[in-house]
Amino acid sequence: MSNLLRLQAALSTTECPAVVLTDMNNVRWVSGFTGSFGQAWVTQNRAAFVTDSRYAIQAAEQVEGFDLNVFAAPKNLTETMTEVVANLALNSVMFETSLSVATWTEWKAKFPGLTLVPAEDLMKPLRMVKTEDDVRRIQEACRLADACMSHARRMLQPGVTEYDVGLDIEFYFRRNGAEVGFSPIVASGPNSARPHATPGERKFEVGDFVTLDLGGRLDGYCSDITRTFVIGKASDRHREVYEAVLAAEQAAIAAIRPGMTGKEVDAVARDLLANQGLAQYFGHGLGHGLGLQVHDPGGLSTRSTDKIEVGQVWTIEPGVYIEGFGGVRIEDDVLVTKDGAQVLTHVDRSLQELT
Ligand code: ZN
Ligand code: ZN
Repeated sequence: MSNLLRLQAALSTTECPAVVLTDMNNVRWVSGFTGSFGQAWVTQNRAAFVTDSRYAIQAAEQVEGFDLNVFAAPKNLTETMTEVVANLALNSVMFETSLSVATWTEWKAKFPGLTLVPAEDLMKPLRMVKTEDDVRRIQEACRLADACMSHARRMLQPGVTEYDVGLDIEFYFRRNGAEVGFSPIVASGPNSARPHATPGERKFEVGDFVTLDLGGRLDGYCSDITRTFVIGKASDRHREVYEAVLAAEQAAIAAIRPGMTGKEVDAVARDLLANQGLAQYFGHGLGHGLGLQVHDPGGLSTRSTDKIEVGQVWTIEPGVYIEGFGGVRIEDDVLVTKDGAQVLTHVDRSLQELT
């Protein structure tokens, strides 16, 4: 079933049976449109797409199942929206809660006959469950991230800077037809204790943990993986922390099942780290949804009530960060099937000593 049909089915259960999507990730999700400006107006049985003349040709190529409303000067957006509201005979419509207050205020003033209703929980459960087509694209993005990790690993040697490796990761994705899903993290030595370190001028040294967190966006869909390496020989402490994080990651991957909550999955990893006396160094959630965005809707954390379902794609990424010593994070991407996790990322996750 297409995402448009899924949304229309969901609208048959909501009090207000129409929605206007303006967040471009949601617009792309429902229509396939990849441009930078568009609105998707959807009711239970109709759909209208609004964009401007810059995207006339592109919208005609990409958007399926919608009536196209492309405006060009001197016609403007407000006039076009007025026509759509009339055509769809709307007197109320849901809007995304990410809509800016400025836009909401403007719409209130311009469309006094249209009641605006916040679409609180409409898109999240839909976006969290991927179609087969979404999954195929995520798998391709994962394959590229695996290859990029293998490539970047070869640059990890004493004297090379974090910044150079970060740049090379970005170059690798672009060279292979992808976008950078997010600015890569290259964190060495004491910097590896910062979960979201920015690559800097620090040069790798023997005895460093080096954490690489990278992902590409290929055909719109993201991957997101992390590996941590040791430059030179690993110390006992390196090994102890690394093995604890890896065991936590593998246990969470083995445990995830449809019907669990995000909190229950998080607890599998967190409890194992607690047994090793390391839970206080694991400050972030275990994982997040992955899809059109690197941080797609959904979270695995100590408070998450999100329900695990077949067709969801999650990152599993426990970490231990010890100030002054360094940190380890290991992150893989998994698809939830009825039997549990199918791991989509495969690059070696054993402790690697780069000598
Ligand atoms: Zn990551
Ligand atoms: Zn992540």
